[in-house]
Amino acid sequence: MKQVLKFGGSSVANADNIRKVLDIVRARLDRGQAIVVVSALGGITDTLLRCGDQAASGSEAFRDTLAIVEDRHMQTVKSLLPVSQQSGTLSLVKKHCNDLEDICNGVFLLGELSARTRDRIVSYGELLSSRIIAAAFHAHGLNATWADARELIRTSADFGHATVQFDTTGQQIRNWAGDTREDVSVLPGFIASEGKGATTTLGRGGSDYTAAIFAAALDVQILEIWTDVSGMMTADPRWVSNVRIIPSISYQEAMELSHFGAKVIYPPTIQPVMSRNIPVWVKNTFAPDDPGTVIENRNNPQHEIVRGISSINNIALLSLEGSGMVGVPGFSKRLFEALAQGQINVILITQGSSGHQRPHVRNPRTKWC
Ligand code: ADP
Ligand code: ASP
Ligand code: MG
Repeated sequence: MKQVLKFGGSSVANADNIRKVLDIVRARLDRGQAIVVVSALGGITDTLLRCGDQAASGSEAFRDTLAIVEDRHMQTVKSLLPVSQQSGTLSLVKKHCNDLEDICNGVFLLGELSARTRDRIVSYGELLSSRIIAAAFHAHGLNATWADARELIRTSADFGHATVQFDTTGQQIRNWAGDTREDVSVLPGFIASEGKGATTTLGRGGSDYTAAIFAAALDVQILEIWTDVSGMMTADPRWVSNVRIIPSISYQEAMELSHFGAKVIYPPTIQPVMSRNIPVWVKNTFAPDDPGTVIENRNNPQHEIVRGISSINNIALLSLEGSGMVGVPGFSKRLFEALAQGQINVILITQGSSGHQRPHVRNPRTKWC
């Protein structure tokens, strides 16, 4: 049996947490080979984005930001690996940080940061974390290897929010898996590549999606999303104190909650696993014995009409109104075309019955199509 386990940013934030991840993975190997997808060390993605923006705006502060990134990874290697096994990984981290510095220097000199270069910069978060974690697994006796998700997940060239080309991706993943003998494969989440080989990203929170893409391609029995809460809850525990864990939830309900703000799962994650009926467990790295939530194919008994409440910040309400629209075809088309061209994700649409008023709610921050 194969299984896919994904660990988010807080689960791999430092050496202590990565040791917990190691224990969890080890305890699951009796079930079969594990594909472990990891996020960047907690906070690093934001730091890398800041670094790119600083360089593009001509601020020398990007050098200090880079130093923070390098130091954080160096310290993690030093506290995670035995001294005798550190040198290879330390030089790998140094090499990646030097490459990153070269790119940021280019951005600084040109004063220009394209979406393509931003993806390249931010990809170092997952590249570094996955390399370090693979080395730690190996050093602690697991039969582990590292693989580059960019060589396996093929996407469009929509940098920052690339669309996965599932046929090519599925084939590449199955070919790779057929040749992989190690018990554990560690891969970077979030990153992929387009047809010409340039690095792309799958959208913020996209490591969940990477894990689901692998789970679906290999038709595994289990996908586990390991995070910092003990499952999907009736509301965001950061805002609501008396939340409850939802022990089991249908794919459709989980999709609905995540689309409307339950950040615990990145919305596109559900689609690939739902089509193959693969159960998704949401589990807590810091309380691994808690049962968590299973997202699966299930009917919702009538008495559980409200499963949870979610919310989204940064929503704009756009209202188009005027008597000139009544009975005139084409107004909605023009509005939606303009929004689509701006890569703006419309999440709710209503229209007055006379056709005189057409308000649309949209989220200006997310730019998914
Ligand atoms: P990771 O880094 O592991 O991917 P995220 O920060 O993306 O973790 O998602 C976990 C966070 O999602 C939790 O810490 C919690 O604050 C937030 N969250 C929002 N809504 C919910 C919900 N309905 N149930 C559980 N967690 C939620
Ligand atoms: N590191 C990326 C982010 O912070 C992807 C992820 O963690 O899922 O958005
Ligand atoms: Mg997440």
